Amino acid sequence: MIKQKKQGQLIVVSGPSGAGKDTIISKVAEANKKVWISISATSRKPRKGEEDGINYFFLTKEEFEENIKNDYFLEYAEYAGNYYGTPKEKIVEKLNKGINVILVIEIQGAMKIKELVPEALFIFIMPPSEKTLLKRLSGRKTEDKEKIVERFNIAYKEINEVTKYNYVVVNDDLEEAISKVESIIKAEKCRVDRIEEMLVANKEEIIHEFLMDEEFDNSPISEKIKEEE
Ligand code: ADP
Ligand code: 5GP
Repeated sequence: MIKQKKQGQLIVVSGPSGAGKDTIISKVAEANKKVWISISATSRKPRKGEEDGINYFFLTKEEFEENIKNDYFLEYAEYAGNYYGTPKEKIVEKLNKGINVILVIEIQGAMKIKELVPEALFIFIMPPSEKTLLKRLSGRKTEDKEKIVERFNIAYKEINEVTKYNYVVVNDDLEEAISKVESIIKAEKCRVDRIEEMLVANKEEIIHEFLMDEEFDNSPISEKIKEEE
């Protein structure tokens, strides 16, 4: 009766550093082959265990600026003294193949995407409390104290931007947060603006077929009607 758009959805996930965005989204992508997490470029130095081309494309500031000039990014922003940007390249290709593309990006970049693609889905991951956020930021052991405080200060401001998003997921219990994000993505697929075409069948044909159906004539309900008559 309906044909739905084959195009994948563009999903933007933001939230303060340490809220659990990467933890949640990597689990969502692991469980769903039709989800692709975009790999950003950054001028920040790799953390221990991070690999070029897997976690990020690690560039120098100069390389990043060269790419800005060459219109390589869909969006980019400066965060905590470094550049971060989404390469345009693969996004349209993936969406056209029906794959959902997730961008895990900070708020300035997310708002640029909102201007470019207003119909994208915007999800905000919220920590259960400020104290828990600071604990997670430090527990990750990826930044020194000074950087943690810098990120916490940014996070404190970012929390007020939540109303610019379509959904907010509080990441207290991890499994529950993952399940909520998966449910939101599923629900979005059912939105009526994803209907591409109404396929209306011929009503007369359907009624004619029903009237010709002898099986119905012999059904208990038909016998009952005959008796009553
Ligand atoms: P972000 O990507 O938002 O910066 P991460 O995914 O790196 O955050 O998570 C920050 C830290 O918090 C990591 O050490 C991660 O293992 C931990 N973490 C994430 N979600 C939870 C949770 N629900 N409960 C406890 N720890 C969590
Ligand atoms: P981190 O240094 O913790 O990996 O990332 C810092 C912040 O930059 C996070 O909020 C992360 O989501 C965001 N970020 C990562 N990639 C991009 C990107 O391509 N564009 C923008 N605008 N932000 C990004």
